[in-house]
Amino acid sequence: MTAIWSVDAQRFYNNALKVIQNNQIMAVVKNNAYHYGLEFAVQQFLKAGINTFSTTSLREAVRIRQLAPDATIFLMNAVYEFDKVRDYQIQMTLPSLNFYYEHIEDLQGIQVHLEFENLLHRSGLKNIDEIREVIHHHMKNANKNKMHITGLWTHFGYADEFDVSEYNVERKAWLDIVSTLIDEDYHFEMIHAQNSASYYRENGVLENHTHARVGIALYGSRPYQTIDVDAIEQSLTVKGNVIQIREVNEGDYCGYSFAFEAKHDHTKLAVVDIGYGDGILKSRAKHEALINGKRYPIRALMMSHMFVEVDHNVHAQDEVILYNNDIRVDEFTFKCVGANSEQLSAMNHDSLIKEYR
Ligand SMILES: *Cc1c(COP(=O)(O)O)cnc(C)c1O
Repeated sequence: MTAIWSVDAQRFYNNALKVIQNNQIMAVVKNNAYHYGLEFAVQQFLKAGINTFSTTSLREAVRIRQLAPDATIFLMNAVYEFDKVRDYQIQMTLPSLNFYYEHIEDLQGIQVHLEFENLLHRSGLKNIDEIREVIHHHMKNANKNKMHITGLWTHFGYADEFDVSEYNVERKAWLDIVSTLIDEDYHFEMIHAQNSASYYRENGVLENHTHARVGIALYGSRPYQTIDVDAIEQSLTVKGNVIQIREVNEGDYCGYSFAFEAKHDHTKLAVVDIGYGDGILKSRAKHEALINGKRYPIRALMMSHMFVEVDHNVHAQDEVILYNNDIRVDEFTFKCVGANSEQLSAMNHDSLIKEYR
């Protein structure tokens, strides 16, 4: 008995089809495909009809190229290993005016996507004048081997927020830039801006855009709560096992440092073989686990164990589910445990047994 992290491959694939619908999707596979496994995810997405991928690391981009020789691969971070970017035909962001002027020579033969900074302020050209400056300078550059401008993109920092107006602000600023450039007869092979939240908020890909750049929905979590629970399916299961059942009495403290005080006699505690060392967040342990189809409260979290308060229906060797499609990562996101990607990223892939079924 060891705690297990497992993915149902069929369900993962079905979910990808559900998310894609009839839209052109650029699958975000950064951080080892949100820790679902880069190779697994790329293969499933290819099968589901996606042939455009993006990530933040060149190492992953090269790996994608090996898995998908014909794919379009977009690197969302600028890097300085220009030869490698060129050799593996990775398309790359152009993150600033400075970067452009400093690396005009280095960028020869590389396909770049002009990035608009917008409200996130993480990267990108500051405004439409900077975008035009690059395009005009580039048009006058007589070097036959100069870079190629193939894309225009931005990233929304507030698409997942509903209580503030910033999404509408960044959305409008961006759409104005896109339509102005199109009116001025500039052409881009690819225009992309939307993460999962924006993709669902807009009911698909925005006008004039070629792709939505979707991550978390493809990994089975809803970016916000009002999306129908059946629209996105979670293929991941994380579970441990009941090692034994202990009985404690009123006033007994259980776990380290008085973690839990029994409220009545004959309290049954299941000792479970999964803990924060396996990646279960402390905030997650304030909620429940699923045993034999019923939810029971977690009472204490330790490195490789937890206590779950149970009843007479629970026995040694029963499975204790922390996450599956009935007790989903996104449920706990909406209960403020942490972002979907934060809960997924916490998982310890060295201590959990990994299975694809
Ligand atoms: C992570 C990321 C995405 C995907 O966001 P989700 O909310 O997971 O869909 C899109 N674009 C950029 C730039 C990102 O860093």
